[in-house]
Amino acid sequence: MIDFLLYLIMGIAGAWLVNYLSDVLPIYRKFTSLQCPTCQTDLGWRSYLTYRACDSCGEKPSIRHLVILVGLPILVVLMGFFPVIVLGSVGSIVWLIYFALVAVIDLEHRMILHPVSLVGALLGLISGTLAHGPLNTLIGGAAGFGIMLIFYLLGEGFVRILARKRGEDIEEVALGFGDVNLAGIMGLLLGWPGVIGGIFLAVILGGIISGIFLVVQVLRKKYQAFQALPYGPFLVISVIALFYISQIAR
Ligand SMILES: [Zn+2]
Repeated sequence: MIDFLLYLIMGIAGAWLVNYLSDVLPIYRKFTSLQCPTCQTDLGWRSYLTYRACDSCGEKPSIRHLVILVGLPILVVLMGFFPVIVLGSVGSIVWLIYFALVAVIDLEHRMILHPVSLVGALLGLISGTLAHGPLNTLIGGAAGFGIMLIFYLLGEGFVRILARKRGEDIEEVALGFGDVNLAGIMGLLLGWPGVIGGIFLAVILGGIISGIFLVVQVLRKKYQAFQALPYGPFLVISVIALFYISQIAR
């Protein structure tokens, strides 16, 4: 019972943190007071826990607030009772909350912020070292970063060649540099050689989802070339899936 309450409190605190940081970091790049996105009135921190409308203009918080507020505590409690063994209950919960933040910002803004990556690298160093020693952690991190960097450079080269052929500028890049950072964090967490499986899984998963997305867009006649998908969530799902697969295999 004590465990359940502890996990629930962590889940609610985590949901608040994810909603708050996803609102302020991408726009202000610093910890500011909460403001209504429509009328800029200051909102109290309580409005985030109660999903209350803005006092001055009546604007409801976005649906994401509700999804995170309800969904994340449930996932956190589940994670607490069925943790990734090498990370422990608290470690698993911290990573779940961290990944939720990365996924929300990436889905909403198509970016993975450098300060968020820096915190992830720190967490990765700690968790990785505890789970599989410092050397495997560092090699894993370098491998994750390096492999994704190659994909990133290939993607950029490909876009540049296409742009020249068509004689037009293409702004969109397939893979952002934030994805390279995230793969490095994944590498620290998964260690060597686990990182190889993680990236492999993310590429397959990303390919399948992009394929489905493409077919749906074509069917709806809304297809545009170079519509980039946020890749961060695939990396995140792959890490979590891989941990559980390796746990079952053991
Ligand atoms: Zn308002």
